[in-house]
Amino acid sequence: MKEYDYLVVGSGLFGCVFAHEATKRGKRCLVIDKRPHVGGNVYCEKRENINVHKYGAHIFHTNDKTIWDYVNSFVEFNRYTNSPLAFYKNEVYNLPFNMNTFFQLWGVRTPAEAKEIIQKQIDSLHIEQPANLEEQALSLVGVDIYEKLIKGYTEKQWGRPATELPAFIIKRLPVRFTYDNNYFSDKYQGIPIGGYNKLTEGLLDGIAVRLGVDYFEEREQFEALADQIIFTGKIDQYYDYKYGQLQYRSLRFEHQTLDTENYQGNAVVNYNEAEVPYTRIIEHKHFEFGTQPKTVVTREYPEEWTPDKEPYYPINDQRNNTIFKRYQKLAVQESNVIFGGRLAEYRYYDMHQIIGSALAKVSDHFGD
Ligand code: FAD
Repeated sequence: MKEYDYLVVGSGLFGCVFAHEATKRGKRCLVIDKRPHVGGNVYCEKRENINVHKYGAHIFHTNDKTIWDYVNSFVEFNRYTNSPLAFYKNEVYNLPFNMNTFFQLWGVRTPAEAKEIIQKQIDSLHIEQPANLEEQALSLVGVDIYEKLIKGYTEKQWGRPATELPAFIIKRLPVRFTYDNNYFSDKYQGIPIGGYNKLTEGLLDGIAVRLGVDYFEEREQFEALADQIIFTGKIDQYYDYKYGQLQYRSLRFEHQTLDTENYQGNAVVNYNEAEVPYTRIIEHKHFEFGTQPKTVVTREYPEEWTPDKEPYYPINDQRNNTIFKRYQKLAVQESNVIFGGRLAEYRYYDMHQIIGSALAKVSDHFGD
């Protein structure tokens, strides 16, 4: 008999939920991660007694009460509501696009006035079949919102002009005709009190974990330890890139401690003009209503991905999706490996979706 029933490769939310649920069912699990900590991209690092979202700002939101109750059973969530701001040159706008934004843009106070301006701008462009992202966005919200609040930000995110990006990237652009700055429309939203590590450490409580180890560097030894593998790393790497490499967009985070109590008055401020090289500044203490004497801010710089960088966002274009499907065909034939999570499924998932997908795989696998 092997030492463990399951080897879980990756301690992100997918790996944590699977390991927790398997352990609850009496199985023996070993979780490994190549990073020096558990939690994957939701990991927080303490600086100045502030939980710094090391791999990008994470705001939990869901409409699913079961998932909300599930995460709250490990750590209580606070009442944080995401209301980002957009800075464009010397102007400040509320997001998402709502009546506050429209007042700031045009001085209009009623939904009818705002609707009329947007519709007039859309009609004047006569775009019937949007050929690229720029035309798609213009045909949905008109020129003012596009020029000030979409164009620069999107071009920085993708590293190319909006006229060279496919229209399908933007399917809809929600426009709200109420004075409501709550970014998410989900029923439940918040940040774990004390940070995300409480959630991941709670999920992994009592489970064997080995950190700073790469599965691919000791593949045979790890496989000899357990009957089955839960693999949450990159699927193309699992198959030694035999059909080619999947591509991503990456991000560079520049963290800075400032000797001031409150730097920008909000957790998330977007910088929308093309001339500023970063897309956002995050001031982490505001996620937890912190009153520490200092503050920590993070500038986010979108980057081209190369294999030495973190793969953050999959590029689900035709080339990559075709390659992924070939890997997926191999994956479904594996009898003792379960692939899950954002890297193995080559798909962007929010946290609540990853938890939902891990719980679904668990009940599929254990048949309960
Ligand atoms: P990960 O968290 O990436 O975990 C995978 C783990 O596997 C990593 O720890 C990695 O080190 C490990 N690993 C990989 N390969 C190996 C190997 N060979 N050997 C050992 N270990 C390995 N979601 C929200 O709901 N709200 C948000 O506000 C939000 N903001 C986000 C912001 C950014 C910038 C990004 C990129 C994502 C955001 N998300 C957000 C999504 C959220 O991060 C994911 O849903 C979630 O973290 C995915 O969990 P996972 O377990 O699939 O992957």
